[in-house]
Amino acid sequence: MKVLVLNAGSSSVKYQLIIPEERKVLAKGLVERIGLSGAMLSHETFDKSPVKMTGEILDHRVAIEYVLSILLSPRHGVLKDKNEIDAVGHRVVHGGEAFSGSVLINSDMINEMTKCIDFAPLHNPPNLKGIAAAKSLLPDVPQVGVFDTAFHQTMPSHAYIYGLPYTLYKRHGIRRYGFHGTSHRYVAHRAAELVNKPLKELKIITCHLGNGSSIAAVKDGQSIDTSMGFTPLEGLLMGTRTGDMDPAIILHIMGKEDLSPGEMNTMLNKHSGILGVSGISSDMREIEEKYHLNDRAKLAMDIFIYRIKKYIGAYTAAMGGTDIIVFTAGIGENSDMVREMTCSDMEFLGIKLDKNKNKTSRKKEAIITTEDSRVKVMVIPTNEELVIALDTAEIVRELHKQPV
Ligand code: ADP
Repeated sequence: MKVLVLNAGSSSVKYQLIIPEERKVLAKGLVERIGLSGAMLSHETFDKSPVKMTGEILDHRVAIEYVLSILLSPRHGVLKDKNEIDAVGHRVVHGGEAFSGSVLINSDMINEMTKCIDFAPLHNPPNLKGIAAAKSLLPDVPQVGVFDTAFHQTMPSHAYIYGLPYTLYKRHGIRRYGFHGTSHRYVAHRAAELVNKPLKELKIITCHLGNGSSIAAVKDGQSIDTSMGFTPLEGLLMGTRTGDMDPAIILHIMGKEDLSPGEMNTMLNKHSGILGVSGISSDMREIEEKYHLNDRAKLAMDIFIYRIKKYIGAYTAAMGGTDIIVFTAGIGENSDMVREMTCSDMEFLGIKLDKNKNKTSRKKEAIITTEDSRVKVMVIPTNEELVIALDTAEIVRELHKQPV
């Protein structure tokens, strides 16, 4: 089966064409600056040289037209006919409480996803545009939605209800939803495979550390808690997001600085976190370089690490122990410094890092603790696109089994 995986953002569409059964990526790429000047498509295949194209890409429909035409291009493409695409899998950021797994997209599903726009006003509308565009360009191809929030729907209410009047949960759906679910699910499964034990018997802490970062506690294969909340703002210190803080600070700053809700929102999401504290950059590579040279780079890194440690401690308590800790995403996969700092002074938890294995592990699966470490620490590159392709293939196979 050939599955086209689409991740439609506000001004971009990322895509991969995958044969899920073979775990093979035939082609992948990115359309950037949709609706802006200098819109561009970057495309690569497994056997041809990469290519970049510019064009007038006014909206998501035109972007997906470009994607289809390059996939079909005799020179750069990998398909002879559009009909070779068996299914389309879409990443959808917010599924609210309506979706606890991936689903075949039909008009009822679109209505439910539309209801979730309120929760993710920046993310769900472009996701829906991507779905509408793909549906109109590939009308006979089944489409599947895979939600960032779905994996965390197993959290118990004591983990997802905030200390607010309960009616606000009932009336407006105010609760912890959690994000990066596809990534947490994938690395937890891979971790169990790497130790050759059933996922159902393991307590795993998954640390997805990228520009946006979150940690999840995965007990017996289910997410029982995660650090992001109602929105992706809660939890760890992130590239430009605050993470945890006293909510009263928001009201205080709005008064002192005379900020509107929109301006405050921008400050919390775009000007805070590692960038806000360091005053240098949101990019972990720059923070690492300046760690010994600049006090505020050091402070940003120290806060980042301290929070990860606190969540590891909290989730170990929440699960009654931990067997595996996984590092993934841009920082988790690449930064041996972050992994070493996180695992230092954690022997009391049963973590003994092998510094050599840690240093040499970059962007590849590895166990980076010593043989006698009770808790295994791992690096596992995430692969959300593969999960989307696998879920899509499974749902479409079931669909073909059903009598018409
Ligand atoms: P996103 O949340 O945007 O998907 P990524 O998972 O791609 O983010 O992670 C981006 C982060 O990964 C950036 O902070 C970047 O600095 C960091 N990163 C990438 N490569 C390295 C590296 N070699 N060392 C440290 N950090 C890295």
